[in-house]
Amino acid sequence: MNEQTGQTEQLGLGRSGAAAPSRRRFLAGGAACLAAAPVLGAAGESSAYASTEDGQDVQETSGPMPTPEQVLRRLVEGNRRWVTGRLTHPHQTVARRLAVAGAQHPLATVFGCIDSRVPPEIVFDLGVGDLFVVRTAAQTNDGLVQGAVEYGAEEAVTPLVVVMGHQRCGAVTFAVDVLNRCATAPDHLEDVVEALRPAYEVAKPMPGDQVDNTVRAQIRLTVEQLRADAFLRPLIHAHRMHVVGGYYSLDSGIVDFFGS
Ligand SMILES: [Zn+2]
Repeated sequence: MNEQTGQTEQLGLGRSGAAAPSRRRFLAGGAACLAAAPVLGAAGESSAYASTEDGQDVQETSGPMPTPEQVLRRLVEGNRRWVTGRLTHPHQTVARRLAVAGAQHPLATVFGCIDSRVPPEIVFDLGVGDLFVVRTAAQTNDGLVQGAVEYGAEEAVTPLVVVMGHQRCGAVTFAVDVLNRCATAPDHLEDVVEALRPAYEVAKPMPGDQVDNTVRAQIRLTVEQLRADAFLRPLIHAHRMHVVGGYYSLDSGIVDFFGS
């Protein structure tokens, strides 16, 4: 397990300030369809957060769009609070709820597992309006998931996407067992198993813990899939967003980020 210190330096993130992107760039023709879902801010808006003395951030102000590196640093800091038990529980007040009722400016999109022990807002010590969260068993990817990530990256301009797997993932354990026995899982569980087959094949020849190797392979393959996404790729090349992997330790609470 790597130390958290210096994690952001491993990732090769763009350090230049990101230009304020134009929202709904690709969706201008569908404005009427979006009118019934007034959850997003006006074009060109971004946000910074002002903290009150008790750590309950409630106020949004205009400011430059944070860079992927700045967002990652914020996630690292929040995770450190979770690990050390010095939580501030930001953005969990009535005032915060009201502040984001008309518009949201999430910092990041987290694509993680459904596991009840890995709730992104808690392990990063964040609150309402801070994250887009997509969760499936063992963060298995498909078109709907990819579309949700695209939505988060473009429509609300989240500068960072984190693909987060975790230690002792039950869904991966299940799939590895099924595949090792050349068996078939019932009903839609087979969809999960088949979605994990590429990671299983990558990890199978590796020495060590087969389940853990498969978890890490699944993270890396999913990062590669998202980075290759035709919709996301221009944003990545423009340093407006970045896709990173994260491995969450159930034992320590540490999210170990990695870039490839
Ligand atoms: Zn899991």
